[in-house]
Amino acid sequence: MTTESPVQTEVVGPSGPLGQSIPYERFLDCVHCGLCTAACPTYLVRGDENDSPRGRIYLMRALVDGRLSLDDSVLRHLDLCLDCRACETACPSGVGYGRLIEPFRVELRERLAAGRGARGLERWLVERLFPNRMLLRGALGLARLAQVTGLDWLIGTLRLDRMMPSVLRAMRAQLPRFRFFTPRLRERIEPEGEHRATVALLTGCVADVVFRTTHHATVRVLARNGCRVLVPRGQSCCGALAYHAGFLTASLPAMLQTVELFSGLEIDALVVNVAGCGSTIKDYPHILQEALALVEEPEQRNAIERALPRAEAVAARTRDISEFLIELGPQPPRGRMELRAVYHDACHLAHAQGIRSEPRRLLQMIPGLELVPIEESEVCCGAAGTYALSEPEMSEELAQRKAERIMGTGAHAVFTANAGCLIQIGRALRQRHYHAWVAHPIEALDLSYRELPPPLPQ
Ligand code: SF4
Ligand code: SF4
Repeated sequence: MTTESPVQTEVVGPSGPLGQSIPYERFLDCVHCGLCTAACPTYLVRGDENDSPRGRIYLMRALVDGRLSLDDSVLRHLDLCLDCRACETACPSGVGYGRLIEPFRVELRERLAAGRGARGLERWLVERLFPNRMLLRGALGLARLAQVTGLDWLIGTLRLDRMMPSVLRAMRAQLPRFRFFTPRLRERIEPEGEHRATVALLTGCVADVVFRTTHHATVRVLARNGCRVLVPRGQSCCGALAYHAGFLTASLPAMLQTVELFSGLEIDALVVNVAGCGSTIKDYPHILQEALALVEEPEQRNAIERALPRAEAVAARTRDISEFLIELGPQPPRGRMELRAVYHDACHLAHAQGIRSEPRRLLQMIPGLELVPIEESEVCCGAAGTYALSEPEMSEELAQRKAERIMGTGAHAVFTANAGCLIQIGRALRQRHYHAWVAHPIEALDLSYRELPPPLPQ
């Protein structure tokens, strides 16, 4: 199947055949009809069967069967997958592609020589930086300082970024425009009016530093709809970023800690406003079950086995904010917004959680807001967790493709329900000097409730 010259990849990890955490029948669900290929972003860009879902399933199965040996070319095709799961939506046979590529990627990462080049830095980011709030806050504080003092502008103008390692260059390009200061959320927020539900809010790691304003908007909207909101201290990363990049050992402690924290609360729902985090928490039971096939250390195995029933309970109560509000029955907002807007489907909301109509319904409740369709609304924007750092070229190609589709609508506002997509789309539009308000749908709803105007860029 592959065409590039094979270079044998160094395998140094644990023993046992590849695919040991994946029931073999999952591969057999694919009947090779190819109906998923047109939905796959990497196939749309490269037109190579090896970069399509069908091709990747073929490659993974051939590796498991021992018909193919792992080389850099095969690895390249598998690494290029965004794990966007658009192929799951398109597949008429119900192939659970995410439950193939995610554990397969974990097995590859755990085996391959760790710490090489960009992957080594990526591992350090997801393992050490993102889960450590103090460190993350410090690093982003420096980035904020560089922006407000104009140093960042100077770096961009003099093209000094070309001297940076590629991962740091990609990270700088991904940084949003920082606000000066957003206060920490209170631990408990009481409902306005009649009490209808008690919920907890996941604040996460990067989102809590970069998207705290979205968290504030979420809490106000929940309180407005009669919810008591708990924001437990001691939250950290939910493990999504590390897990989706294939670093299971880095993600497990974060997952176990999240289960421990939220399973102890008397709540009706764990509300999440970042699509990638919500889909991962809903998948915790599968992920932990598959981890048991790979983790050998008895103490860690015991911890996973003990956490499994509570992980199931937490997963069952997890709701995306739009899903939760539609189930609850939202209060109608009053503030008008004379806006032409588009909604981009975040992959881990649309494909992984099947949530498409709920955020649109919330936006359509806002008086004056005109939601217009966008071509390829369900095609990934290239953000995909840490993908923009590990695969900057494909990520950029998809970002520009998304920007073109948005600009074609003449929209004043772009809404999407995932932190990574907000950064990626905002950056791509700024690069093209296209002025639009890029925000989470909950921010529009919040402003409409408060009868405030939208912050349209000039
Ligand atoms: S994943 Fe589904 S749509 Fe794609 S080739 Fe296999 S069976 Fe067909
Ligand atoms: S997850 Fe996305 S990028 Fe990967 S094969 Fe499926 S559609 Fe293509």
